[in-house]
Amino acid sequence: MLAAWVREFGHLVSSHTDRLNALDAAIGDADHGTNLDRGFRAVVADLGTIADPGTLLTHVGGTVVSKVGGAAGPLFGAFFLSLGDSLGHDPTVGAGRFATGLRAGLAGVVARGRAEAGDKTMYDALAPAIDAMGAIRDLPAMVQAGLRAAEAGRDATTGMLARKGRASYLGERSVGHQDPGATSAALLFTAAANALSPFGLE
Ligand code: ADP
Ligand code: MG
Repeated sequence: MLAAWVREFGHLVSSHTDRLNALDAAIGDADHGTNLDRGFRAVVADLGTIADPGTLLTHVGGTVVSKVGGAAGPLFGAFFLSLGDSLGHDPTVGAGRFATGLRAGLAGVVARGRAEAGDKTMYDALAPAIDAMGAIRDLPAMVQAGLRAAEAGRDATTGMLARKGRASYLGERSVGHQDPGATSAALLFTAAANALSPFGLE
């Protein structure tokens, strides 16, 4: 199921590459979609052989760090590396361990990029989603709550003034544009919701 999640995220990144580049063109350098797509094509290409959750996701994180450029590469990489470390080698991942793992992933992003709430980054989609998920113990309901909160957090970045990354160079001119990293981060939760349905979990 975790491999299906990562694979679905790769598909969504591919189908949203132009949209992510266009968002980045407005407040950055127009490469966010291309960066992620390159990295996740490499990730998806060698997903098949990996045995347990921790090994799978730390492998994903390592590939993301080495293949995704820009600011987002190390940040998404840190997310998957910390998630993988948290999940470890136990093959069973229930809702509680997944929520704890996601929280560790977010902590990895913060350790790397020092973003805080309202800085107009991927944090503003990830943090509310993971907070919403922590309170729920049913996996499909948890993922749906995370998706709703991630999309609301993503939408709220439009009104924010960027205080981290390339968009922060624009100051007031960053206001009025949706953050590309928050947009791709929200796709993690769309991917999770989509990945559950073939397992009869919706
Ligand atoms: P670059 O800005 O180097 O071209 P990308 O375009 O791939 O990198 O990614 C830009 C995204 O990275 C931003 O939209 C933002 O969400 C995210 N980002 C930038 N800096 C930080 C940070 N310090 N913490 C969290 N996210 C960040
Ligand atoms: Mg960019």
